[in-house]
Amino acid sequence: MDVERCDRCGEPHDKTDPAALAWTREIAPDGRVTWLCVTCSRRHLRDIEAKLATEWWVGPAPDA
Ligand SMILES: [Zn+2]
Repeated sequence: MDVERCDRCGEPHDKTDPAALAWTREIAPDGRVTWLCVTCSRRHLRDIEAKLATEWWVGPAPDA
């Protein structure tokens, strides 16, 4: 079965979990749909807002 997973940490996207609603859906330039779990969405919020391609993201950010 093809389970959607967080593109960063690999966590499965469990749509029966209310928290799954907070996941971030990203569409890559090649049309591929990727998902980010809540933790990774928060961690990379600035990268996402800056529309940085994920290859420019640097590891886990220190907690602000
Ligand atoms: Zn994640």
